Amino acid sequence: MIVENIKTGPARLLEAASLAGRIKQEVRAEVERMQAERPCLAAVRVGDDPASAVYVRNKIRACEEVGIRSEHHALPESTSTSELLDLIRSLNARDDVDGILTQLPLPAGVDETAIIDAIDPAKDVDGFHPVNVGRLAQGRPVFVPCTPAGVIELLGDSGIEIRGANACVVGRSQIVGRPMAQLLLQRDATVTICHSRTRDLAAVTRTADLLVVAIGRAGFIKGEHIKPGATVIDVGMNKVSDPALVRTLFGGDAAKRLEVVEKRGFTLVGDVHPAEAAEVAGMLTPVPGGVGLLTVAMLMKNTLKAASLRRQ
Ligand code: NAP
Repeated sequence: MIVENIKTGPARLLEAASLAGRIKQEVRAEVERMQAERPCLAAVRVGDDPASAVYVRNKIRACEEVGIRSEHHALPESTSTSELLDLIRSLNARDDVDGILTQLPLPAGVDETAIIDAIDPAKDVDGFHPVNVGRLAQGRPVFVPCTPAGVIELLGDSGIEIRGANACVVGRSQIVGRPMAQLLLQRDATVTICHSRTRDLAAVTRTADLLVVAIGRAGFIKGEHIKPGATVIDVGMNKVSDPALVRTLFGGDAAKRLEVVEKRGFTLVGDVHPAEAAEVAGMLTPVPGGVGLLTVAMLMKNTLKAASLRRQ
């Protein structure tokens, strides 16, 4: 395995691997108790996007690890909205399927909203259906989107106080930013949400004790955006293949990353500038090896929950 995580400054790295492992172990123990009634996750993927293929493969592998049965429905790029709706409806109707996951983004020709709306809320293990979004907004969640749910687990496991903290979430997507802000608010943080129209982003983010970034721009959040000693959660996952950019992002510690670029053609970089953040932040999640691992673990937890609720 190639070690990519680099700590250049005083920030402590919040590694997520052991927590993700523990969550999966707990799920596994529970699944074993269910014996013949083991949960089943149906993963649906449309088109040839290589990143989506990797994400689905990782999710199926995690199912195998924890003993959850899984099905992989890989459909061609040409699939129409109505064909995909037919598949979703058949999965909704099947008693032996507990969770349905549609890997996003769907190809441009497919109506993503119609697909999400069609998933039975009781099988919506991604927590994207409006019923589950509404439940979360009302503070009575059933299925919480896996990435922000994983961030909350990590903060709890690392002993980071959310109550009363000034929390800033950069990014307002349906799958990360918005549910993240809801979860922090429900835990009594004072929450600010920033986005591409925020004026003087650094002035806002610098007030945050807890900064969560999910924007999809490699190394965008610099030292000037971070309050000294803050906890910084980097949700971003961006492929960087330009060696000059790798040097800028990792400074004196770029050598290992450059090796990775040489071998794989790219290295995964978060939305936070790793070298600058390490100098200013108190705690920081690495990329890779951070939030991404927890996303998959939380999907397993949600699938188990769906199965348990359906068997009550
Ligand atoms: P998204 O749907 O593209 O949303 C991006 C958000 O960032 C938008 O709200 C956008 O603002 C905001 N934004 C973009 N540029 C900005 C800027 N310069 N300043 C301030 N805000 C800016 O992204 P997403 O799906 O939330 O994903 C974000 C990142 O997280 C990506 O790198 C993705 O790969 C990663 N991700 C990781 C995991 C994981 O498991 N680790 C899971 C999901 C996503 P507007 O709303 O104004 O356009």
